[in-house]
Amino acid sequence: MYRSVLVPIDISESDLARQLIPQVEAHTKAAKVHFLAVIPSVPFYASMGLAYSGELPDRNGLQAKALQKLEEIVKQFTIPEGRVQTHVVYGPPKDQILKVAEAVSADLVIIASHQPGISTYLLGSTAAAVVRHAHCPVLVVR
Ligand code: ADP
Repeated sequence: MYRSVLVPIDISESDLARQLIPQVEAHTKAAKVHFLAVIPSVPFYASMGLAYSGELPDRNGLQAKALQKLEEIVKQFTIPEGRVQTHVVYGPPKDQILKVAEAVSADLVIIASHQPGISTYLLGSTAAAVVRHAHCPVLVVR
């Protein structure tokens, strides 16, 4: 029985999350379920204020919007509120997914294999890195 399950969600691809629902519900009967959205870092030159910095969205505003979107997606899963925790962090998605998996002592990560429309024999780059480096079992949903 899993106790802490991490479910990374790409909030720009909410249809992909739907594909995870049956698997997440089946494997988290008594577990705490950590839903994670990672906002990729702004390009280095922009973060240095060298270009386009005036157009950069406010970091807190972006984080609040991402959390709202993640919570909308999480509502589609039938899991009691007390067992759900949402996380929004900045950084490279694969690194942050692995970091949060450690931080919440995940004993299972459930991740979609790739974006829709890409050949099914491929594993997306984020999913592949998580499978390769995670310290716990990873369930790849196709
Ligand atoms: P592709 O390379 O086809 O874009 P990915 O490997 O990036 O595929 O995505 C597969 C899965 O990885 C997504 O369905 C999601 O579970 C997770 N993922 C990808 N990007 C993010 C992100 N920014 N935040 C959280 N999870 C992500």
